[in-house]
Amino acid sequence: MEVSIADSATLLNKANNIILTAHVHPDGDALGSLFALYSFLSAQGKQVRILLDDEVPRAFYFLHGWEKVEKPEGIVHTADLLVVLDASDLERIGKVSEVIKAPILNLDHHISNVKFADYWYIDSQAAATGEIIFKIFKEVNANITPSMAEALFTAIATDCGFFRYANTSAQTLKIAAELVELGAQPHVISERLETKPRAVIEMLPKVLETLEIIDCGDAGNIATIVLNYDAITKLKDDTEGFINYPRNIDGVEIAIMFKEADDNSVRVSLRSKTADVSKLALSFGGGGHARAAGCTVAEPLDRAKTLVVEAARKQLAAGFIA
Ligand code: 5GP
Ligand code: MN
Ligand code: MN
Repeated sequence: MEVSIADSATLLNKANNIILTAHVHPDGDALGSLFALYSFLSAQGKQVRILLDDEVPRAFYFLHGWEKVEKPEGIVHTADLLVVLDASDLERIGKVSEVIKAPILNLDHHISNVKFADYWYIDSQAAATGEIIFKIFKEVNANITPSMAEALFTAIATDCGFFRYANTSAQTLKIAAELVELGAQPHVISERLETKPRAVIEMLPKVLETLEIIDCGDAGNIATIVLNYDAITKLKDDTEGFINYPRNIDGVEIAIMFKEADDNSVRVSLRSKTADVSKLALSFGGGGHARAAGCTVAEPLDRAKTLVVEAARKQLAAGFIA
């Protein structure tokens, strides 16, 4: 059932025993939204837990709340409410859906959302799920502490490339301004996120050596980079910014990063300048936004690459421009 911001606030208010979760491979939006909501609900004396079927990337350890994250393990639990943040389908939360039996409230902003929950609030105009959490806080006049403001600013800023991408609206900037008034410090957050281990910077030239550009004529080109299994194990979760290099090349319309997860599975990140790559991701069982999407392809690296590049090329040729 579709619900409003006010309905979402009521559902949260009525529940006492609440589990919060978000998508695997969590990003700034998933984590910032989780931590801000966790602070708000636990300040009300509710029993709240964060379950995430993945590790929290080190880059986000500066946010208050990461130490509360638990892995879904053991026996099946019940709860009054399972809140699923920033995830467009149930598979995106991994094992959490198997161990928690509760009505689901899904707060999300993905255009590819499949409306899997009992209650959903989906705003594909929102730059981040963090914007939706902020609106819920405003609805109930919540006390937004500096660490909650920091978490929400991180959620919003990371999903819109620090206010540079097409999803940045006047509303996004207004919310961000309020969060700064409430104590978020953009330069501190940016510095934390930009700082990387030496190994990540040293890997960059090796990754750029894999760059290929596929000429697609007037439709714009496709650029690909590849991270093989060895590179991934060394870099763990710090590969986030690599896709921007092929994306930023003059004449490139679609950028694709292939990350070899194992012998038979490849994580694919898609970025575009104008084409709708969420459709491309959906056709491989993934999802996302028009200009940033992803999927996992259950094939060896070379085969996955051939399949996705061919599909992207066809999409460009067919003029699937958003
Ligand atoms: P990234 O390339 O940064 O992993 O993901 C880009 C966007 O696509 C994010 O909004 C992310 O949530 C979404 N996305 C990435 N992979 C998947 C996937 O496998 N399934 C779905 N539904 N969405 C994905
Ligand atoms: Mn996300
Ligand atoms: Mn998001």
